[in-house]
Amino acid sequence: MAAPTQKRVRIGVMGGTFDPIHNGHLVAASEVRQHFDLDEVVFVPTGQPYQKRDVSEAEHRYLMTVIATASNPDFTVSRVDIDRHGPTYTIDTLRELRAARPDAELFFISGADAVAQILDWKDAQELFSLAHFVAVSRPGHPLTVSGLPEEHVSLLEVPALAISSTDCRSRVSRGFPVWYLVPDGVVQYISKYHLYRSST
Ligand code: ATP
Ligand code: MG
Repeated sequence: MAAPTQKRVRIGVMGGTFDPIHNGHLVAASEVRQHFDLDEVVFVPTGQPYQKRDVSEAEHRYLMTVIATASNPDFTVSRVDIDRHGPTYTIDTLRELRAARPDAELFFISGADAVAQILDWKDAQELFSLAHFVAVSRPGHPLTVSGLPEEHVSLLEVPALAISSTDCRSRVSRGFPVWYLVPDGVVQYISKYHLYRSST
């Protein structure tokens, strides 16, 4: 009798600056986990993003991501990007995760705004050999795969949360609340370390 074939572990990879992590990120990850029957979603805070300036310290962003995901047994957080020197490129993230988990199938999760830029990313064609890409809907951004290899990209409508980290930072700097936009522990972390007070 043939040995039963072992199902490969299915891992979602949610990359982001997470400055701060908010409920839009968490809903996106949760919906993709459910829809694609993933065993785990790894949140990967970026190191120094090459397209963004004035980003909060990596350690703050990492800790907020840990706080936000701690209560979900299917969510974990990886330090691969913040511990790697130099700018963060998704190709390096995926190569490193693939080397650490050669048995796993990887699903890279990104919002409609980010996926539209994939072809500009470093080593874009190799990205698709390392992971399947899942683009989730995001208010204000059309969800389309135009120009992308359709067999490597899936689209998923998720409950619309018109939340961005930029808006959260701006709200904090203007003294507006971010309760219910980010997890409670993240509200308290932002307040404890006086993040986003002077500039957005
Ligand atoms: P910023 O305003 O600083 O760019 P952001 O809210 O876009 O922050 P990122 O850390 O840049 O958050 O995003 C990480 C990933 O999460 C990206 O793929 C982005 O498209 C996706 N994402 C962010 N917010 C949402 C949302 N509200 N709904 C769906 N996807 C989202
Ligand atoms: Mg963004």
